[in-house]
Amino acid sequence: MSDFTPTERTKVRRLPDRGKYDAESVYGILDEAFICHVGFVVDGQPYVIPTGFGRVGDTLYIHGSAASRMLRTVSTRVPVCVTVTLVDGIVMARSGFHSSMNYRSVVIFATAKVVEAREEKLEALAAFSEQVMPGRWKELRETTDAELKGTIVLALPITEASAKVRTGPPKDDEADYALPLWAGVVPLKLTAGTPIADPRLPAGVPAPDYAAHYKR
Ligand SMILES: Cc1cc2nc3c(=O)[nH]c(=O)nc-3n(C[C@H](O)[C@H](O)[C@H](O)COP(=O)(O)OP(=O)(O)OC[C@H]3O[C@@H](n4cnc5c(N)ncnc54)[C@H](O)[C@@H]3O)c2cc1C
Repeated sequence: MSDFTPTERTKVRRLPDRGKYDAESVYGILDEAFICHVGFVVDGQPYVIPTGFGRVGDTLYIHGSAASRMLRTVSTRVPVCVTVTLVDGIVMARSGFHSSMNYRSVVIFATAKVVEAREEKLEALAAFSEQVMPGRWKELRETTDAELKGTIVLALPITEASAKVRTGPPKDDEADYALPLWAGVVPLKLTAGTPIADPRLPAGVPAPDYAAHYKR
């Protein structure tokens, strides 16, 4: 995986020291996430639609119903901006002005290609499934031809991308450090609860390990 070259569009200008373009940072963030926001413009109106995604190498796959406006529009090779966000903590500073969040995020500019080939379509769906529920794809019943036909899969090349990362404590005004007000970071983490079996599950089917011990 090669690093990214900042472009006119991806050069982080606001707090540039938080910008990152190395493959490890960008792909690390993408692989920890499974939700992205897809931004596109139709008749001058911007839309930003949340959806799941999967990554294979330097391609990000999104998929869904052939009836989706988002997928139909993006499949016409319009410019797309995809963002992925991980929130790591709430930064409680001594002023509202300096209060912030610790985060890792990625912005990708691309135009999408419709995946037509059956094998690549299945590979993309497997990648999506594995990104959300690792270990499950091989146990699922096979996708039917009708399901495949009703599903649009789009491939977005991850070639023009930036990451931005904030870590650490608040950065307050020097005079404010003397205030008798607690300040610091409340870490946030996405955690899984105990799996709830489908009421229609036949008796005696245990939760697989990847569900019982699901973690991000
Ligand atoms: C969870 C979270 C909360 C945030 N809260 C705030 C907030 O309350 N107020 C605020 O002003 N900003 C916030 N940010 C930062 C915000 O995303 C922008 O970076 C910032 O507002 C500067 O925007 P800009 O358009 O001026 O960036 P510019 O520096 O002009 O952007 C230029 C290019 O840098 C890249 N870039 C910019 N921001 C990001 C990013 N976050 N991730 C990856 N690439 C990026 C893009 O490629 C972009 O096109 C938050 C970010 C996250 C992830």
